[in-house]
Amino acid sequence: MIPVDTGDAPVRALFTTRHGGVSTGPFASLNLGATTGDSAESVRANREVLADVLGVDAARVAVAMQVHGAAACSVGPDGGDGRFTGSLEGVSECDALVTRSAGIPVLAMGADCPVVCMWDSHGEVVAAVHAGWRGLVAGVIRAAVDRTGASPGVLHAAVGPHVRPCCYPVDVDLRRTMATTYGDDVVHGDAIDLGRAARRALETAGVAPERIRVEDACTSCDARRFFSYRRDGAATGRQAAIIWIEETGS
Ligand SMILES: [Zn+2]
Repeated sequence: MIPVDTGDAPVRALFTTRHGGVSTGPFASLNLGATTGDSAESVRANREVLADVLGVDAARVAVAMQVHGAAACSVGPDGGDGRFTGSLEGVSECDALVTRSAGIPVLAMGADCPVVCMWDSHGEVVAAVHAGWRGLVAGVIRAAVDRTGASPGVLHAAVGPHVRPCCYPVDVDLRRTMATTYGDDVVHGDAIDLGRAARRALETAGVAPERIRVEDACTSCDARRFFSYRRDGAATGRQAAIIWIEETGS
């Protein structure tokens, strides 16, 4: 687990690594993705382990059926309605989940794609975003910021581990698209910098640069800690960003 420092906000957030679960082979061990080829039993067990370790109610965790798009969805006080460890299905087809309900963890998964936690200083709203290149080009970060309903000036963001330019050469058309959308400096030779693009998207949406952090670990380089689609192909697991508003004792 990689904890995210949320300062004084009554919010907890972290990025998972591949450690701590029960899956084997290419999914070893904390694979959270249900559409990876891993067994449903293992994914369910991993999700239960994660909820236990974090001290959250697994039945309330909300995860989306991610489609590499730019839709952001709101999650209410019932959270994921038990599907996180029940049917293992996502609550809706979207790539960003936003909630204003305390005690409802929202989760976004990736194997190389940046996953992003967002929160506001007062702990009134949180978001988890899956922001791969398709989502970044489509505008998923802006959609998530808008969906929070908060002034971007009060938002913080942490961009999780993702595939870095050292391991992410792409074709010239995508390099051009990314440069046009996010600036020439997101292209490094024949590779693109998804973390910098995510940062630029957050800044463009109004989040203050000093409130944005980007993890510098490369998921493809660090096989010990992370799953990577680029490195391992389709048979690999998913790590996640997870964030929630803490419930105050009543
Ligand atoms: Zn790398």
